[in-house]
This record gives sequence, structure tokens and C-alpha cells, in this order.
Amino acid sequence: MTCVICKHGIPQPGTTTVTVERPGTLVVFRQVPAQICPDCGERYLDAEVVETMSTVAEAAAATGTEVDVRVYRPIQA
Ligand SMILES: [Zn+2]
Repeated sequence: MTCVICKHGIPQPGTTTVTVERPGTLVVFRQVPAQICPDCGERYLDAEVVETMSTVAEAAAATGTEVDVRVYRPIQA
């Protein structure tokens, strides 16, 4: 897959830090698995990963957590 942003780089597997915001809540996920473009730095996240982070952020918002920093972990089915 060629990067859709710079149309040049080939994204490689790696990890990154992603911040997810919900009203009143900020959750920072570290070591999130992603494909990262070596040329422009664009990150490509799996839909499943995005959904997991969204679920965790909403749970944090529901419990009134204002800021949370955590290592990304897949939700066990
Ligand atoms: Zn790129």
C-alpha cells in the first residue's frame, strides 16, 4: 500500500501515540499498533484499533475521568 498523503512512501508496521477526546475527557494511548509512512509520518490505524480506543475513551468519560494515559491493549472478546 502506498501512502495516500504523500503518494510516495510505503507505510511500515510500528507503534504510535494517539490522543482520543470525548467531552470532559482526554485519553492518551501509547504503543498503539499502526502502519506509519516513513516519508511523511502519516499513520494508518485499523478500524478495530480505532473502535477499541473509542470504547475505552467513552468508558473513561462515563466515569468522569478527566485525563488518562495508558498503554494500548486490544479488548479481549
Ligand atoms: Zn506518506
